[in-house]
Amino acid sequence: MNARINPKKNTFGSKTDIGRVRAHNEDSLIVAPPLYVVCDGMGGHAAGEVASEMAVNTIADLAPQYANAEALGQAVEAANHTIIRGARKGLGREGMGTTCTAAILDHERLVVAQVGDSRAYLLHKGQLQQITRDHSLMADMIESGQITPAEAKTHPNRSIITRALGSSPHTQPDLYEINVEPGDRLLLCSDGLSGMLDDHELAYTLGHVGDPQECADQLIDEANAAGGVDNITAIVVDVTGFTASRTQRLARRTKATAGILLALLAIILGGAVLAFDYMVDHSAYLTAEDGKVAIYQGIPGEIAGMNFTKLVEVTDIDVADLQPGTASRLTSDTIRVDSVKDAYRLAESYEAEIADRKGASSENEEDAAAGADANEDASSSEAVSA
Ligand code: CA
Repeated sequence: MNARINPKKNTFGSKTDIGRVRAHNEDSLIVAPPLYVVCDGMGGHAAGEVASEMAVNTIADLAPQYANAEALGQAVEAANHTIIRGARKGLGREGMGTTCTAAILDHERLVVAQVGDSRAYLLHKGQLQQITRDHSLMADMIESGQITPAEAKTHPNRSIITRALGSSPHTQPDLYEINVEPGDRLLLCSDGLSGMLDDHELAYTLGHVGDPQECADQLIDEANAAGGVDNITAIVVDVTGFTASRTQRLARRTKATAGILLALLAIILGGAVLAFDYMVDHSAYLTAEDGKVAIYQGIPGEIAGMNFTKLVEVTDIDVADLQPGTASRLTSDTIRVDSVKDAYRLAESYEAEIADRKGASSENEEDAAAGADANEDASSSEAVSA
């Protein structure tokens, strides 16, 4: 069964969790529609977290606002250089790195840039398709027929990845470009999810939990119930698209008018106006206003000298408290969503993220005070463990 998508409902949800075994959460994510990114850091004692945070922030800063695979790939390459430069300057540590699965979902066009073994999946008419190919030893061994996917699940080298951001200045992402349909559902996740749940389990939950946030929460719960041996991150995004909703709206208008001919005429003359009207109604965005996160309905900027936007609320959220990547996206541009409700949902997730980070940084200070440095070794070769 496909999850039923109601256009009034939230269209995305996300969650990251430390899992049940690890001491740190080295995964990072960013939800800044139309951009969604999951990065799974590595490098030992929180250096992985530094690398994955640098990656999501750089990508949020540089990624395009539209589904342009080349430009998204360039943002991922820039993140690679940021991590390498950062390590040289003493941020994190040498050899730190991260996976990266970055997606831009712009209505019915999806582009993904991929490095490492985090994954993007698409649920289409109830069928789960893995969009990305892992850069991992297991993927290579499965492809060359040395082991089966089932054997890979328990193989001692299952976390060796063959491409990571931070390990070589020449690292490039694989790029994917896909047309998607309203009703499809996108999942981005770290291997802490895909390693704990098989495709049938992922497909079942993606197909049966309608609300994307509840779906992300449930996926994390299931991965923890299955052992939670690694950090777990999931972003769930529903494809709404303009086409289907516009068709529905035109169909309703057709029924409401007395004569079909009149309706057709109205559709032809009003088609462009309706489409535009629909876009204004079904668009909202977040931006920075005097250092606070502001929510607007409509389309940013001027069109033919006219304004199609209205301020809904300036929130109490300080832009300076947000992840740098999110902050710079809000300051230099806007973060677009499908509705004012989505805008509020995103603002709430930013508030939660600020609270989480403030909690985590006080824990880290305690760690440092206790001298609890595990001093794990980080591999500096291309093959690293995520
Ligand atoms: Ca991992």
